[in-house]
Amino acid sequence: MLRLEKVSKSFGSLRVLREIDLTVARGEVVAVIGPSGSGKSTLCRCVNRLETVDSGRIVIDGQPLPAEGRALARARADIGMVFQAFNLFGHRTVLDNVTLGPRKVRGTPKAEAERRARALLERVGIADKVDQLPAALSGGQQQRAAIARALAMEPKIMLFDEPTSALDPEMVGEVLDVLRELASSGMTMLVVTHEMGFARSAADRVIFMDGGQILETGAPDEFFANPRQERARDFLAKVL
Ligand code: ATP
Ligand code: MG
Repeated sequence: MLRLEKVSKSFGSLRVLREIDLTVARGEVVAVIGPSGSGKSTLCRCVNRLETVDSGRIVIDGQPLPAEGRALARARADIGMVFQAFNLFGHRTVLDNVTLGPRKVRGTPKAEAERRARALLERVGIADKVDQLPAALSGGQQQRAAIARALAMEPKIMLFDEPTSALDPEMVGEVLDVLRELASSGMTMLVVTHEMGFARSAADRVIFMDGGQILETGAPDEFFANPRQERARDFLAKVL
């Protein structure tokens, strides 16, 4: 589904990604963990080309990610992304937020887009908020709206970059529940997270990044019980 081949990225003299090789299979849920500055967000941003890569290839469903233009826009429409901060359109209702992408990018008729949006908002548990502006929603509700908006594009893969780290603690659970439901529905997911409980219980695989490299990858139970790399052990000792 998603393959990174020797992907490297530097900002000036800072090497942020060093020949990253990574494959995410269809339906697989991969949690990305690692210390601050290890390159996790940059990895996500390279996958949908919010950042260009210096070298290496990113392949989605067998197709190399196009460099620019309409082909890139098309490829990007298949990649859902949810960030740490809720990036909803503030002056649009929740329903508009969820329907705009399908209508503008996919050409979905309004009635159909709205029918599907309502179903998605139901799925993430905020069906009663359709006509509200984002500011009237709690942080957890806004993040669930952002997830519904990404899902409305029927993406092949969903990227999450610390989707719960800007939330008040009591709202983390409701967003993780949505991620869990999504994971068990068969969505292909790459999830950068500091929520080790989530990584352990919901991910098929954990990758540990440090210094722009994937230092260790493994099944969650094995990784958390018995990390092989010293830096992974140090990291877990600090966060668990
Ligand atoms: P965190 O856990 O704090 O979110 P991260 O693993 O997501 O960290 P990145 O945001 O990918 O880390 O950043 C990796 C490194 O690249 C950091 O040293 C960061 O300062 C640097 N960096 C990221 N984006 C840029 C940019 N646009 N220009 C210059 N340096 C950048
Ligand atoms: Mg980050």
